[in-house]
Amino acid sequence: MDINEKLRILSGAAKYDVSCSSSGSSRSSKKGDLGSVASGGICHSFTPDGRCISLLKILLTNYCIYDCAYCINRKSNDIERAAFTADEVVNLTMNFYRRNYIEGLFLSSSVFNTPNATMETLTRVVEKLRTEHGFKGYIHLKAIPGADEALIKKAGTFADRMSVNLELPSSQSLKLLAPDKTKENIFQPMKLIKNGIQISKSENKVFKRAPLFVPGGQSTQLIVGATKESDLNILNLSEGLYQKYSLKRVYYSAYVPVNTGQNLPELKNPPTLREHRLYQGDWLLRVYGFKAEELLNDKNPNFDINFDPKTFWALNNIHLFPVEINRAPYETLIRIPGIGVRGAQKILSARKISSLDFQDLKKLGVVLKRAQYFITCKGKYFGSVPLDEEKVKTALTPRFDLNILDNQGEQLNFFDKIDKKLLLPDNYDLNNASSKILLLNDRPSSLTGEL
Ligand code: SF4
Repeated sequence: MDINEKLRILSGAAKYDVSCSSSGSSRSSKKGDLGSVASGGICHSFTPDGRCISLLKILLTNYCIYDCAYCINRKSNDIERAAFTADEVVNLTMNFYRRNYIEGLFLSSSVFNTPNATMETLTRVVEKLRTEHGFKGYIHLKAIPGADEALIKKAGTFADRMSVNLELPSSQSLKLLAPDKTKENIFQPMKLIKNGIQISKSENKVFKRAPLFVPGGQSTQLIVGATKESDLNILNLSEGLYQKYSLKRVYYSAYVPVNTGQNLPELKNPPTLREHRLYQGDWLLRVYGFKAEELLNDKNPNFDINFDPKTFWALNNIHLFPVEINRAPYETLIRIPGIGVRGAQKILSARKISSLDFQDLKKLGVVLKRAQYFITCKGKYFGSVPLDEEKVKTALTPRFDLNILDNQGEQLNFFDKIDKKLLLPDNYDLNNASSKILLLNDRPSSLTGEL
């Protein structure tokens, strides 16, 4: 099979992994023009310092021995299949890198033949890139559950970041939709990578030239909406993963209904707003010091799609408000809906000089649309309705039901031209799935701004 065909098939197959978001654009150039864009394979990812980098995002193969119910690549699907050789991936990466198309490689794979055979080829790719070609660009590599420890350890010495996808949030769900996978098989490589990172960090403190092991840390992905777990179940799991395996990130992927089956939910569109709320909740865990069980509980196991998670928490804990802006410590200020880390820092610096009133907050650039209901300035409350759970809730409820966007709403397409043949069954509406990025960029103003 021609390498371009393989690239088309295997970059298309990689788009369901959300660790990087795909650019999806396609624009050719003619003589005299500068540059061009190809939709196949190039996507963007973000470095810890906020830089956006381009990655070649592909699967090694989409041949799979497993039959996970939710997956487009499952063995029972009749789709176009392809497999790169290790040398083909190496050559593509080097050629793209030399032409300045990419700054790194995101390499994942289905499980062909055996987990060991797959992991061995993935490892060969990264080893060749680093040792034979001196490639110093970024590499994100999947670890295949069930592969030998030695292979994963070796791969970790060449990759910047590794990820093992958990996909489903509980053992029961794995049994139901991915019976070939077990929780233990997935957690074992996670533990191995975590230990390797720890050892490498301590060795590097003593010996400057000690080899690095997965210096960019590890991540995982969870599918949201394919099974019955609540947001509380999912955030509890993420919290545990951050604590136990020191993950850098948990990515949430709204379930895209590409298959049908008796154990699969009947969804018309991917639950993208729920995914978005989970990302916001995850941010509150990692940056704002919230616990999953503070945000959600048995009475409220799911976020209300109409409110961001911090507003949802504040409405459920209205007895903790109003907070006096001139006295509250930093930890309390960042819990006020609408006031983020930067807003709280500005307030702390400004109030050293004089106590602040409502106008001062506006001048500081603090967003008061939501915060007004949860604060006092010099003892005075400025909310447009009295501080009462129902009244504030009504004042903050978006003018239309956001559920509509998730369930029935017609989403605009981000791109004019999309290759609709790409690996999808005839009855699948690609426009809705691919516009996930647009939904987050084009969302109503009640969803934007600081948490
Ligand atoms: S192992 Fe991965 S690629 Fe294979 S069917 Fe399951 S989810 Fe899909």
